[in-house]
Amino acid sequence: MSTKHHDPAILAEADAWRSRDLAVLWHPCTQMREHPHTLPLLPVARGDGAWLIGPDGRRTLDAVSSWWVNLFGHAEPRIAGAIARQAYTLEQVILAGCSHMPAVELAERLLALAPRQSGRAPLAKVFYADNGSAGVEVALKMAFQWFANRGDEPRRTKFVALENGYHGETVGALSVGDIPLYRRVYAPLLMEAVFAPSPDAYLAADGRSAAEHAEDAADALARILDEHAGEICALVLEPRVQCAGGMRMHDPVYLKRVRELCDVHGVFLIADEIAVGFGRTGTMFACEQAGVMPDLMCLSKGLTGGFLPLAAVLATQAIYDGFLDDSRERAFLHSHSYTGNPLACAAALATLDIFEADDVLARNRRTAARMAELAAPLAAHPHVADVRQAGMIVAFELSDGGRKSTPFDAARRVGLRAYTHALERGVLLRPLGDILYWMPPYCIDDDQLDLLADVTGSAIEAATA
Ligand SMILES: *Cc1c(COP(=O)(O)O)cnc(C)c1O
Repeated sequence: MSTKHHDPAILAEADAWRSRDLAVLWHPCTQMREHPHTLPLLPVARGDGAWLIGPDGRRTLDAVSSWWVNLFGHAEPRIAGAIARQAYTLEQVILAGCSHMPAVELAERLLALAPRQSGRAPLAKVFYADNGSAGVEVALKMAFQWFANRGDEPRRTKFVALENGYHGETVGALSVGDIPLYRRVYAPLLMEAVFAPSPDAYLAADGRSAAEHAEDAADALARILDEHAGEICALVLEPRVQCAGGMRMHDPVYLKRVRELCDVHGVFLIADEIAVGFGRTGTMFACEQAGVMPDLMCLSKGLTGGFLPLAAVLATQAIYDGFLDDSRERAFLHSHSYTGNPLACAAALATLDIFEADDVLARNRRTAARMAELAAPLAAHPHVADVRQAGMIVAFELSDGGRKSTPFDAARRVGLRAYTHALERGVLLRPLGDILYWMPPYCIDDDQLDLLADVTGSAIEAATA
């Protein structure tokens, strides 16, 4: 490893970088007052595989896939090359009235890969947007307008979402999210959603299994759907893992029950696979683990391998048909300037090529097994309440004495201390509160996993001491 970062000239350069940044940038999801004293700012000059590399040559392991977007490592040459070739060919074209082959081909391939369910017509159409939140907005608006177009009276105007769920930051997406830290201040602006209890296995009462807890949550959902019969357009959820909600995981039986309940009530099922899609939980899409198919599926984040912003909303033919009419007003008039950007589509196509060429899901199964071995000893730490895993996601829930009932006082900033400790040791963890997690790029190798496990162990020790 480079020792260049001890060179005073290079240290001064990194400091100058930080000052320039803080003079002009307002960073996302950040209390800016914490920079730079409580929260160090990591300058990143380039990326290489799972490494982020500073101006001083110092390497930091990107254990969070740069906010869950990166799949195969930074600066992956096949994706970079595909973007460059596309940029010299067609960088962007209006997608209303025009067509370009990267958008067509990507739609064909996504539909071919999408979850299927016997007895149901498959997902058949793709609508593009340019980030995850916008994709969620698209799905919500489609569900709402489908019923409006059909002329249901009284109108269906509500959505059901899950407690502790997360679907993005724009006002519509935030309305179906249930994370107080992000939501509370904007509550007066938000549309009204109905929240159903989370199937989150961590919440299971003593002696109840994850599957039993999921069944209980489904029973509660059934009551909610009865109570609001005829009012609900759609139910939106993150299948298998509520990621922003703390990497909380649930038994797939919940998704089976939800599919049945949505059918009984004529409610659309929107699967937000923005974080869990593209192999993150072990299967290409998380819905596959329950053998169910949603009516609308939102994809983003890993869709482009983490190179460019793009979202895709996959819809059934029945939903699409509900917008065909002589009236333009019945059309889905939603649009973003960069809808279906060819560069982003080219990155996504290269991403799908890599899934095939490298047999990524098989490799991930081996990596996930190694992650499980390395995580197991950490479960014994006295302040670890839970260690859980879904494929390439592992989470460590810290609490005082390792009891679920005694979370650490938020003022102790346990997660933040773990963050700074790990960063000093060359690992970028970004805990969600007091929940540490691993969600690394799929290219992570055994040495990097060893480093990750070592540093996580010492970060837990240091933060909870
Ligand atoms: C990140 C995320 C979103 C929002 O995507 P952005 O591109 O950040 O707007 C929506 N849903 C889930 C489940 C996410 O994890």
